Amino acid sequence: MVVRTVESFAEGKWFRSTRLSPIESAINGEIVAETGSDGLDFGAMVSYARNSGGSALRAMTFHQRANLVKALGQAIGEHKEKLYEMSFDTGATRADSWIDIEGGAGTLFSASNKAKRELPNSNIIIDGEFEPLSKSGSFAGLHIYSSKQGVAVHINAYNFPIWGMLEKIGPSLIAGLPVIVKPAQQTGYIAEAAVRIMLATGLLPDGALQLISGSTGDLLDHLTGQDSVAFTGSAATSEKLQQHPAIAREAVLFNAERDSLNASILGPDAMGGTPEFDLFVKEVAKEMTVKAGQKCTAIRRALVPADRMDEVQDALSRRLAATIVGDPRRDDVRMGALVSRGQRADVLGKVALQAKVADIVFGSLDEANFKGDGLDKGAFLSPLLLRADDPWKASAIHEMEAFGPVATLMPYKDVDDAIALANFGQGSLALSVVSHDNDVVRQIVSGAGSFHGRMVFINRDCAKESTGHGTPLPVLVHGGPGRAGGGEEQGGVRAVKHAMQRSALQGTPDMLAAIIGEYLPGTTQTTGDVHPFRKKMSELEIGYTFNSAWRTVTLEDIEHFAHFTGDTFYAHMDEVAAAASPIFGGRVAHGYLILSFAAGLFVDPAPGPVLANFGLERLRFVKPLKPGDSMKVALTAKSKSLRNAEMGEVRWSVLVTNQGDDVVATYDLLTMNTP
Ligand code: NAP
Repeated sequence: MVVRTVESFAEGKWFRSTRLSPIESAINGEIVAETGSDGLDFGAMVSYARNSGGSALRAMTFHQRANLVKALGQAIGEHKEKLYEMSFDTGATRADSWIDIEGGAGTLFSASNKAKRELPNSNIIIDGEFEPLSKSGSFAGLHIYSSKQGVAVHINAYNFPIWGMLEKIGPSLIAGLPVIVKPAQQTGYIAEAAVRIMLATGLLPDGALQLISGSTGDLLDHLTGQDSVAFTGSAATSEKLQQHPAIAREAVLFNAERDSLNASILGPDAMGGTPEFDLFVKEVAKEMTVKAGQKCTAIRRALVPADRMDEVQDALSRRLAATIVGDPRRDDVRMGALVSRGQRADVLGKVALQAKVADIVFGSLDEANFKGDGLDKGAFLSPLLLRADDPWKASAIHEMEAFGPVATLMPYKDVDDAIALANFGQGSLALSVVSHDNDVVRQIVSGAGSFHGRMVFINRDCAKESTGHGTPLPVLVHGGPGRAGGGEEQGGVRAVKHAMQRSALQGTPDMLAAIIGEYLPGTTQTTGDVHPFRKKMSELEIGYTFNSAWRTVTLEDIEHFAHFTGDTFYAHMDEVAAAASPIFGGRVAHGYLILSFAAGLFVDPAPGPVLANFGLERLRFVKPLKPGDSMKVALTAKSKSLRNAEMGEVRWSVLVTNQGDDVVATYDLLTMNTP
């Protein structure tokens, strides 16, 4: 077998340490790689990231960074077979590696798509609304996110060397942060191969991505308040790193994803024979066996109504018995090995402690009959189902995570008891409820919501399409409170914002508008002879305003609109009822009629730079128009964002006022324009 020397990538060069530690195959114990980072200059890596990578990334817009991230995902996809082949030695089956490799690339695609759709093509994000702060309007406030001028250090667990790396890299790069990745050494050879693939694209700016294949040396000593650490791993390591003097002193942002004693609740409604009963059994068995249970989100505690303990135990045992454990390269094998014999020993030690408060009802600690040849020195273990009939006396089950194919079945008396038991884990990444009863689910969310980072509800209606208990999704937040680390990752652009600095800005509206490149209420407007619809994006200046002519709204207009559209709501058509209304005090024009008249007042109809209207946002009807009232519109170019070479989005601020200068309606109009 070829022994791979795992290298680091530092300051733009591959670096091979002279002091290396061996990494064994999880299948047969043979040495597959050697790794180490002695000799790396960690301080120089941090400076290189900040000075080269950071400045290059900050010079790019969110959309440019999103394109880069997408290209990295495509490169992983193109070379995936090589990664699949290497991953067998980590004990993973092909199905396990699908989560790691294609799931990992998927996080990059998702982060990229979200950023392109939801972030501007610039490098500042505006957070929330403009806040007027003075009577005359000369002083106002606004929040923005800007890129930090530091480095994101990612310290990852061994279980998903690619997914775990990519789910963090995508948002960091989009946020404009260079990254130093430190994978767990046990599976670092897979992460190194993925980094080589990404660097080979030639698209990453120098210093945007560096890799430490070994320990972190004095890396953390060099961090400051502009830097961040995102850690995934055990609670013990997390606690140690959080107390590192530089992290504490410099208030380095520290995000932790760690041990989590996730629970799944079988709803009281789910009797044997219901689809939910079967779904629960399937889900628990799946979570125990996928990746040999080495998943941070796996179900560790299966909570079932007390009267169904035996039935669930029998069904689960039957299902687990059908799971073939062995050489992950074989097609008939469903569960591979743990990552190492060390990890196997760790799991066995923890199960031995848990077995003092629970019975092992499926599987055995000394099972040796696994499918395949030459597995004696591998890290195989059979699935182990425990049963604790007195869950409130079984602290070891609620406090200690055996990071392997292990789960414990426990009874609950009623829904409140189930909630209390779920929360007894002191904070988790994922809680699932398998139930077809909305009342049960609502009660559980109200009692358990704050203890669990993600809650998934599974029943017959979504079973076919549900992504299941254990799958974190890039568009949803991944992380949990308390024991789970208190961190938060992913969740679409939330992850990008999480990596950036939020600041409050205060000043004149004109100054704030100049900073963010957007028109704000009360800022200077310009006008001219050319209608704004006749200007290409490049010619259209922010604040350029078209002031329409007046139009009077008549009773005939209102009645015509009502009959034409079918909207004969009393406020428009019934004088007596409208007069009695506390809001209208008489018949008023439809809001939609006002919008339609507004369009009629500001649209310049001939084909030109405005290609299409694709929506309205922030619409508010402020004051009704009565028959005989007049309206006019001010249409102001608010912001511009190029989508590609052919088109871009223009956001217009629309203000409809009446003859008394009162605001009737406000909204943002979105159009697609030529550049
Ligand atoms: P670990 O021993 O805590 O290691 C995690 C990472 O920290 C590895 O990269 C490790 O590197 C590094 N590390 C350890 N000591 C360090 C130090 N003093 N300074 C800097 N880095 C250090 O955890 P693990 O055994 O790899 O992973 C299993 C655990 O991770 C389980 O408890 C599981 O629950 C948890 N996990 C949580 C999540 C989640 O998203 N919440 C996901 C996966 C796993 P070395 O390899 O060099 O030691």
